[in-house]
Amino acid sequence: MNISTISIGDELVFGEVVDTNSARIAERLYTAGFKVQRHLTVGDVESDITEAVRTLAGESEAVIVTGGLGPTADDITAMAAAKAAARRLVLNEEALAHVKVVTGKLGDSAFPLNEKQALLPAGATVIPNPTGTACGFHLTCGGCSLFFLPGVPNEMIRMLDESVIPFIQQKWKQRRFIRTRVLKVFGPSEAEVNSLVKGVAAPDAGVTVAFCVNFPEILVKLRAEGDDERHVAEALDRAGEKARQKLQGYLFAEDDDTIDSVVAALFRTKGVTLSLAESCTGGMVAKRITDIPGSSAYFLEGVVTYSNAAKMRTLDVSPRLLEEKGAVSSEVALAMARGMRNLSGSDIALAVTGIAGPEGGSAEKPVGTVFIALAGRSGCRATKYNFFGDREEVRTIASFTAMDWLRRHLLSL
Ligand code: ATP
Ligand code: MG
Repeated sequence: MNISTISIGDELVFGEVVDTNSARIAERLYTAGFKVQRHLTVGDVESDITEAVRTLAGESEAVIVTGGLGPTADDITAMAAAKAAARRLVLNEEALAHVKVVTGKLGDSAFPLNEKQALLPAGATVIPNPTGTACGFHLTCGGCSLFFLPGVPNEMIRMLDESVIPFIQQKWKQRRFIRTRVLKVFGPSEAEVNSLVKGVAAPDAGVTVAFCVNFPEILVKLRAEGDDERHVAEALDRAGEKARQKLQGYLFAEDDDTIDSVVAALFRTKGVTLSLAESCTGGMVAKRITDIPGSSAYFLEGVVTYSNAAKMRTLDVSPRLLEEKGAVSSEVALAMARGMRNLSGSDIALAVTGIAGPEGGSAEKPVGTVFIALAGRSGCRATKYNFFGDREEVRTIASFTAMDWLRRHLLSL
């Protein structure tokens, strides 16, 4: 089956907004067993939209169009669609009722402007929008099913999931089954991961392996494809099990789980508490921890001790240590972790101190030098890292590594 997408908006062609809609549509359809052949992006120019819709409608069995259904003057998709399909624009009663309900709820006074959103090509059927004013619509043009959805990503995705994909599944019956599993790895390089998972791909069983870097993690994407749903699921399970064994030690999460959610789950099962003392990461570790709902059950407190004075005053790091070893040292990292544990009374205290750059590096301690220390019931240890990258990357990988420390420590309890 031949499916295309069209994304509409000047902001997309001018490069001000990244077109995430077509990617998400393609991904959702792919998971449902349908491949998108082509993506097209056009600006808010009526003739361009008409041309794009007409062209792709002539070459595809389904086209999914997003954007330009709003009430403002630059929202001209319905008009362009009508021209492409040689229809008139007519007031659609169902769309009008929807617009009235939503604008009424919002207490919106600009009602006449919103009424424009109820003008749809003759013969179009409404695609309900549960969360916004703009209705979507479905139109048949020649042999092609055209689906028009609003540009707002959240509204678009819900309408896609609830209306468009079920319609496509119903009409074209799924012939291929595609299942994916994402294994998330941290530590080895992409090339090392590639050689670790050698032998996992099984072309005969329709299983392929792809790699993707989502800095600083590496995603190993297993994909199984075939005509029989059960065989596809089994082939993916087999490949997943094989890959899990080969990636042991580096694999920290699968599919929708993240390092943060995995650490959160471990804290809950282990029943231990945490405090944090951060310097170069400036609270990024605390943010990762508190991003997960329910973290108050185990996270007691975190401090950002950026200056030497703060390290001394808050964490009781000795002035002599700071003088002799420097703030970025194994000894100070250990003292920060111990000081934090004493201060908070937590079971575990983790400390991060380092040089994120771009200034502040030296021959002995270049930019990217980071020490992480962890104080627990059974003692305290620190490790030096030499991370590579700009300030943002050093801080990101340092906070990620800190989370991986917590993960490994909790697993060992
Ligand atoms: P409304 O005007 O009612 O919000 P609309 O259908 O007219 O809906 P647009 O005006 O085209 O939608 O876009 C609304 C918002 O969604 C804008 O902020 C726009 O940048 C964003 N958006 C539109 N298309 C895309 C896309 N393809 N990818 C990511 N964001 C998009
Ligand atoms: Mg708009």
